Amino acid sequence: MSAAPACYDVLVAGGGIVGAACALAFTQAGMKVALVEREMLGSGATAAGMGHIVVMDDSEAQFALTRRSQQLWQALQPNLPPGAEYESPGTLWVAEDEEELAEAKRKHAWLTCRGVVSRILSARELARLEPNLRPGLAGALLVSEDAVVYPPLVALHLARQAQSLGASLLIGRAVTSLAHGEATLEDGSRLRASRLVNALGAEAPSCTPGIPVKKRKGHLAITDRYPGFVSHQLVELGYLKSAHSVTADSVAFNVQPRQTGQILIGSSRQYGNTNSEVDQPLLTAMLDRATLYLPALAALNVLRVWTGFRAATPDKLPLIGPAVADPTLWLATGHEGLGITTALATAELLACAFTAKEPPIPPQPYLPSRYVSASTQAPARQQEKA
Ligand SMILES: Cc1cc2nc3c(=O)[nH]c(=O)nc-3n(C[C@H](O)[C@H](O)[C@H](O)COP(=O)(O)OP(=O)(O)OC[C@H]3O[C@@H](n4cnc5c(N)ncnc54)[C@H](O)[C@@H]3O)c2cc1C
Repeated sequence: MSAAPACYDVLVAGGGIVGAACALAFTQAGMKVALVEREMLGSGATAAGMGHIVVMDDSEAQFALTRRSQQLWQALQPNLPPGAEYESPGTLWVAEDEEELAEAKRKHAWLTCRGVVSRILSARELARLEPNLRPGLAGALLVSEDAVVYPPLVALHLARQAQSLGASLLIGRAVTSLAHGEATLEDGSRLRASRLVNALGAEAPSCTPGIPVKKRKGHLAITDRYPGFVSHQLVELGYLKSAHSVTADSVAFNVQPRQTGQILIGSSRQYGNTNSEVDQPLLTAMLDRATLYLPALAALNVLRVWTGFRAATPDKLPLIGPAVADPTLWLATGHEGLGITTALATAELLACAFTAKEPPIPPQPYLPSRYVSASTQAPARQQEKA
C-alpha cells in the first residue's frame, strides 16, 4: 500500500524571491506551508536580477504594487542580514536633453501627488552628485527612497525564516504538475494542499499551460571594485522617446553601485530568445549605451556577464490571484523586471486573500482573470526599467 500524500494548507512551487516571500507570509499567517524548489533557493531570475527596489509610475496599478512593496522592504530592512546588502542610494532618472527633463518634471509632479519624495536636479547638481556622468546632460529626477538589495541572499533568508516558523523546504525537487489540490514531483511523489501557488517565474507555464507569461531575456555585467565611481542607481529617461515595443530587442542605460564597490551594468530586453547564452552584439550595445553616459566606464574591468529571464505578461502587470479554471490553484508570477521590488506585496496580497483580510491595495488589477475578459486587457502606458 503506497503512503498517503503529505498534506499542507499551501504548497508554493518555486523558491525564487516571490515563492520565498509567499512561503514566509503564509507561515506567519499560521498556515502549514511547503516550498518546493527544483534547484537552489533564489537561483532563477532572482539571482540574475539587479535588485533595484524602485517605485514605478507606468500605471496606477503598477505604482500601487511597487510603492506598497517598497514600504514592506523598508519595514523588513532592520531584520535583513548584512549579506542582503540593503541600501537606499535613491534612483537618478537622468535627462539627456530638455525633452527628457520635461518628462522628469512630469514624473516629479506625479510622484509628489502620491506622497513619494523626489527632487529635480539641475545639470550642475547632477554633475556634482555624479561626476563620472558625461558633461552636458540636462538634469535628473532624484527619487530618494528607492533602494538596492542582493536578491538571492534575501530569497534564502525569507525561506529560512519560513522554515524556522515551521514551513517545509523541499529543495532539489522539481514539480511536474500542479492542479486540483495536488502537486506531483519529478520522482513521482505527490503532495496535497488546499491551495497550490505557482511561483515558478518564467517557468510558470510549464505547470500552468496557457497563462500569458513569456520569457524576456536580459543581460547584466559586473565590474571589478571601484568604490565611489557612482553613488546612485542611474537610469536613463531616454527610452521614453522611442516606441515601447514589446517585440524588438532593446538596451537602456541602467547602472547600480554595489556595496562591494562593484558596478552592476544593465540592461537589455529580448523576446523570443530562450537560449541563456550571452548575445555578444546585444551585450556590446548595452555596454556602449552605458559608456555613452559614463565615458570612464570604458576603462573599467568587467568581471562577469550573465543572462536571466523575466516573466513577462502582455500588460506588464503580474498575475497574482486565483487561476481561473482550478479553485485550488493560485498564481504569483509575471513580475517581468520588477519582481524583486514587488515580491513582498505579492506575498501580502495572497496572504490577505487566504485569510480573508482586507488587502492594503486593491488586488483587482493583478488578478489572472483579467485575461479571460478581453475588455479588461487594455494595457496602460508602457515604460520599463531593468
Ligand atoms: C537582467 C534582469 C534584471 C532585473 N532587474 C530587476 C531589478 O532591478 N528590480 C526588480 O525588482 N526586478 C528585477 N528583475 C526581475 C526580477 O529578477 C524577477 O521579476 C524576480 O526575480 C522574479 O522572481 P520569481 O521568484 O518570480 O522567479 P524566479 O527567481 O525565476 O524563481 C522561480 C523559481 O522556480 C524554480 N523552478 C522552475 N521550475 C521549477 C519546477 N518545475 N519545480 C520546482 N521549481 C522550479 C526555479 O529554479 C526558480 O528558483 C530583473 C530581471 C532580470 C532578468
